[in-house]
Amino acid sequence: METADVIVIGSGQGGIPIAADFAQEGRKVVLFERDALGGSCTNYGCTPSKAFLAAAHTAGRARQGEKLGIHSKIEVDFPAVMERVRGIRNSFNQGVHKRLDGAGVHVICAEASFIDERTVKAGDVIVQAPLVIINTGTSSLIPDLPGLAGTPYLTNRNFFDLKALPPRLLVIGAGYIGLELGQGLARLGSQTHLIVRGDRLLDREESDVSEVLAEALKQDEIQLHFGVNVNQVAHENSMFTLTLSSGEQIQGEALLVAVGRQPNTQALNADASGIELDQQGFVKINDQFHTTCAGVYAIGDVAKQPAFTHVSWEDYRRLKAILGGENRTRGDRVLGYAIYTEPQVGRVGTTLDQAQKQGINARAVTLPMSQIARAIEWGHDLGFYRMVIDNDTDEILGATLVGYETAELVHVFLSLMEAKATWQLLEKSVHIHPTYGEALPSLARLLLEDGTP
Ligand SMILES: Cc1cc2nc3c(=O)[nH]c(=O)nc-3n(C[C@H](O)[C@H](O)[C@H](O)COP(=O)(O)OP(=O)(O)OC[C@H]3O[C@@H](n4cnc5c(N)ncnc54)[C@H](O)[C@@H]3O)c2cc1C
Repeated sequence: METADVIVIGSGQGGIPIAADFAQEGRKVVLFERDALGGSCTNYGCTPSKAFLAAAHTAGRARQGEKLGIHSKIEVDFPAVMERVRGIRNSFNQGVHKRLDGAGVHVICAEASFIDERTVKAGDVIVQAPLVIINTGTSSLIPDLPGLAGTPYLTNRNFFDLKALPPRLLVIGAGYIGLELGQGLARLGSQTHLIVRGDRLLDREESDVSEVLAEALKQDEIQLHFGVNVNQVAHENSMFTLTLSSGEQIQGEALLVAVGRQPNTQALNADASGIELDQQGFVKINDQFHTTCAGVYAIGDVAKQPAFTHVSWEDYRRLKAILGGENRTRGDRVLGYAIYTEPQVGRVGTTLDQAQKQGINARAVTLPMSQIARAIEWGHDLGFYRMVIDNDTDEILGATLVGYETAELVHVFLSLMEAKATWQLLEKSVHIHPTYGEALPSLARLLLEDGTP
């Protein structure tokens, strides 16, 4: 049996920097990774999906040029699109290898499981350390649909290996992964069907966000099937046939399953170390990332943190500070996220409904795109900006921005909220005309009136 100072299980977005930092400080660090170094973000998530969407949205925007009087003929070289995506993914993956090697982390490419509290085994290798950090992330949840198992369906795991554009695509699931990848392939030329169990897209967002997105997808000629389940999946002669609960049958050469994520804890043998999991299998942690086993911490998606790269990375920074003796917690941070459909959704903080349910005397104002000069001039007519404030303290509690490149614009709110700024500060700011940013003081100005634009 080997000993180390630190064991990291999983090379996710928090695991890599924490392993590298400790190794650079001269500690002996062993990192176990059962798949590609860099985890979901680098290999099967953010990096390839955004490189893919760069191509897809270029095609989509070119088509929308029609509205501005620009007519173009779009030819998609799908193999070139995907080669570029894989090239970027590979370069990011190589970057992770170099970083860990350079820092002197001992990487063991194998699946790790606990054999007792802080002893971890992978194949013949057994390592013990006083500090163990779990960063094993999540994987696609595969629903138990009759006929699905054994068919060559796609998930985010193999999607980026596609070599040819499927003429028809079927997508099960209307969360952000299904929408981003579904809209992406539609914009590159696949006739796309989206199968939605509920009555709206993105059901964690407010209903008008779902409505805007549904309208955008219809403009991309995506067929939306709401309120249906998939009763049967068949795959014959390279063709998928889905039988829906409505009785309808739809066919496509490719099927993307994107119904949710599940924590990667099955292989961990968490019982052996006394690490408790919740009912869904996520690792239970306290406000300082500590699991129920002394010396064992968990960060990122597997610990049921908001499942985003910047959160896993921020988990690393906070845990590092906590382990260094600082009295930090994970609860006091402003977290945002974005959905990279077109239009985009930029989100931070609470919605009006969430704030009111917490007993806050909250209020929201909304500015539609149709009242924003830049949006009118550039033909980006779908979406709105919304801000939620606390009537008693005037603090900004949240924002929902649906529109062109709002993943960028939402950072204004992230910084204001981090500074605990009031809406009056935003209202006083003089922003540049004509920009999307200019609409944010205008949004705040609605609070000087009666709240209706
Ligand atoms: C299609 C898609 C698009 C996304 N887009 C975005 C985006 O635009 N922005 C954003 O912020 N987030 C995005 N995400 C989410 C983001 O990828 C994750 O939140 C992020 O990777 C953080 O994950 P993590 O650090 O918890 O672990 P992960 O990155 O999931 O890494 C966990 C690692 O642990 C390894 N592992 C698991 N079990 C074991 C074991 N027993 N032994 C050894 N190794 C193990 C896994 O192989 C994996 O490499 C996207 C996700 C997907 C799927």
